[in-house]
Amino acid sequence: MKSFNTLLLTGAFCLLIGLPRLTGAEDAPGRVLIRNVSVWDGSSDAAEPGRDVLVEGKLIKSIGRGLSREPDADSDTLIVEGGGRTLIPGIIDAHSHISAPITLADVASEDPAYVAALSLEVARMLLMRGWTTMRDVGGPSQGLARAIDEGHAIGPRIYPSAMFISQTSGHGDFREPTDPHPNTVAGADAFMARYYLIADGPAEVRRAVREALRQGATQIKLMAGGGVMSQYDPLDTVQYGPAELRAAVEAAADWHTYVTVHAYTDEAVNRSLDAGVRVIEHGHLLSEATLRRIKSEGAFLSSQSFGFVRTMNLDPESETGRKAQVVVDGVDNVMGIAKKIGLPVAFGTDAFGAKRVYAAAVREFGYRLRWFDSLEILKQATSHNAKLLELTGPRNPYQDGPLGVIEPGAYADLLVVDGDPLSDVTLLEDHENNIRFIMKDGRVYKNTL
Ligand SMILES: [Zn+2]
Repeated sequence: MKSFNTLLLTGAFCLLIGLPRLTGAEDAPGRVLIRNVSVWDGSSDAAEPGRDVLVEGKLIKSIGRGLSREPDADSDTLIVEGGGRTLIPGIIDAHSHISAPITLADVASEDPAYVAALSLEVARMLLMRGWTTMRDVGGPSQGLARAIDEGHAIGPRIYPSAMFISQTSGHGDFREPTDPHPNTVAGADAFMARYYLIADGPAEVRRAVREALRQGATQIKLMAGGGVMSQYDPLDTVQYGPAELRAAVEAAADWHTYVTVHAYTDEAVNRSLDAGVRVIEHGHLLSEATLRRIKSEGAFLSSQSFGFVRTMNLDPESETGRKAQVVVDGVDNVMGIAKKIGLPVAFGTDAFGAKRVYAAAVREFGYRLRWFDSLEILKQATSHNAKLLELTGPRNPYQDGPLGVIEPGAYADLLVVDGDPLSDVTLLEDHENNIRFIMKDGRVYKNTL
């Protein structure tokens, strides 16, 4: 068992072991002028060629032609020659889990310092693939988010959900069959309680939501139906009753933010929507009627192609392997209907469990080409995901401008890409060669121009 003290020491230790202070506010670049790029703004149907983009501090100051002749572009300005390449907003992952770089079962028995070190490595890896923002939908990523924001580590901005909230025997109840119930026995594992809280009944659910918010969640993640990686809850199970779901939504609304739920089935999703849930994670087994309801109510669908699940080599005879197959078989269903009825799908990967899974997450671009064209996929991964992030209201840690778009006043999260990703989004999969320039928050992390 690990104590909170261990965790605090771990945090301090990670800062001491020689991570260079890479991005302190005092060494912020003054101005960066990116010259001669074809600017795709995150929502338009085409890029505008021959533009210059001036970045000041962490925000985009202006976009136009011939900005280099303006007095603003003085000798202190870093000039980047775009050479006519494409400039796009940084990629946003709407569904990831950065604090589980190994399986949750391994996290439970590992040294927290080891887990934190792997998360740091993954964070850097994702940023260097052009991922500038991620929505973490379960697990304690708030400390890493803060370390990145403060410049102690490099990685995407993170919108943490803190712990998963689950009912007893739900998708977030990761105990083994012989483990005692945490609420009935003293000495529940404080470290794992930062990954999942088991709460039953409206009062416990309300308390769990408040606890997640106290720990820094920007939105709340609830398990509302059966899942693949939890071993003891069948996929068809509906988790949480109407009163429990309403309690969660109310407690989140009191903090002016929202609840998102893990759910695959019509029954689980409709019950969640009835209670005021705004975002559905996964939804692979949904009918057209339910997907139409999500669209008509202005809720969000955050689904994934699960391309990497196909590469996880799960034993097809195991219970987990069988469940995974049912969900993977549903990918075509959810994406196909969403495309048909014009329901936007947030771009996300659900990466967790192993470093190679995060590395493979870039393949989500190519997998989505089965249902969407490159431009649609890029919109999902930038401006559409940014709208989803804005549901956090005053809990949004990044209030200085919009994310996911290129316009004056927006955060300067920018990628310069060789070739035209609007017509071939898979260019972003070969990030090493094709993403020539990576900027987050006005800071340059890669520049091979
Ligand atoms: Zn997930």
